[in-house]
Amino acid sequence: MLTDRQLFLNNLAQTSDSPLALEIIKAEGVYLFDSSGKKYMDLISGISVSNTGHRHPVVVKAIKDQVDKYLHLMVYGEYIQSPQVKLAGALAALLPEKLNNCYFVNSGSEAVEGALKLAKRYTGRKKIVAFNHAYHGSTHGALSVIGDESYQTPFSPLLPGVDHIEFNSVEALKTITSETACVIVEPVQGEAGIIVGSQTFLLSLRNKCNETGALLIFDEIQTGMGRTGTMFAFEKYNIIPDILLLAKGLGGGMPLGAFISSHEIMQTLTVNPVLGHITTFGGHPVSCAAALANIEVIISEKLIESVESKSKLFVDLLSKSEDISQVRAAGLMIALQLDNFIHVKKVIDRCIERGIIIDWFLFNDSSIRIAPPLTISEEQIREACKIMLDSLEKE
Ligand code: PMP
Repeated sequence: MLTDRQLFLNNLAQTSDSPLALEIIKAEGVYLFDSSGKKYMDLISGISVSNTGHRHPVVVKAIKDQVDKYLHLMVYGEYIQSPQVKLAGALAALLPEKLNNCYFVNSGSEAVEGALKLAKRYTGRKKIVAFNHAYHGSTHGALSVIGDESYQTPFSPLLPGVDHIEFNSVEALKTITSETACVIVEPVQGEAGIIVGSQTFLLSLRNKCNETGALLIFDEIQTGMGRTGTMFAFEKYNIIPDILLLAKGLGGGMPLGAFISSHEIMQTLTVNPVLGHITTFGGHPVSCAAALANIEVIISEKLIESVESKSKLFVDLLSKSEDISQVRAAGLMIALQLDNFIHVKKVIDRCIERGIIIDWFLFNDSSIRIAPPLTISEEQIREACKIMLDSLEKE
């Protein structure tokens, strides 16, 4: 019989020729356990997903309770499914009035696809503005708006009419005109290596969209659900996007995405054509039950309140090292700037060997990614930072 490792390499499509290939058999809180019994502290949360930790008991109970009632019943939008509508209500209660209408999908990329279609449909315009070094997903539409040609060119032709401009440049915003359907932006660029959008820039972007009638889409797929120290990053900037995108941390470990807007904007997807945007599994009842419990945990355990102090502890401890030239942080989205990929890879390998899981970024391979569950304790942060500091030597 083939081992799981052999099946992984032979029968599972690979995304690179150097997968981590850790054989994890159990996860709990901030820890993962492999088939040899080794324990790892997960400092990346499955890439900003497990904000409430792995298998939070409240989330697991909600999943089990829902499994006992029903799984898939019907395509999205036809039946009244309690977990789905309760989650939409809970999100509406957390969000401003103009973000009170939720379309549930299965992933981040799908949320991006839905939002781009919605903006084109609502404005009747064709052009899209996106940013250099942005990441929005791997499907055709999402790939068209990411800001890295090396990932796009091999899959061309992509969506026409997309302009990429410089992030954090007020000057570059002149590209947005009355022909622009929408501008899609990450308030903190994640895969670029944690580049925080400046207040001036995002405010100017909001104003420019107001002037031109372009819809402003905030991709909060990484920044949402408390990761940056507020439930949603846009709250920090005192501006409200026209469309908000969530996924990753939304489902508490279950697959779920959402694009959220006003009733007025969203209802343009309801007619001409009817069923113009549909999904079989979007807003799966088990995912929605998990997401609802996940929000309850974030609020009842006051996870957001400690994000800033935990972030500061990471930054203070790690800034001491001369091997790290810069620590960039937006709450518990943190990047450690090293010299080059060779150094980054050595540190990552050493840390994994020593039971700490860290990673690099898609568009910045000279930085190390830290994005632990928000449930991580100060003691665990100190322990992890000690191991990271001990693993920084270049040779
Ligand atoms: N937007 C952002 C900001 C992301 O970080 C990601 C995933 N890394 C996506 C979109 C795409 O999400 P998914 O992988 O669920 O399609």
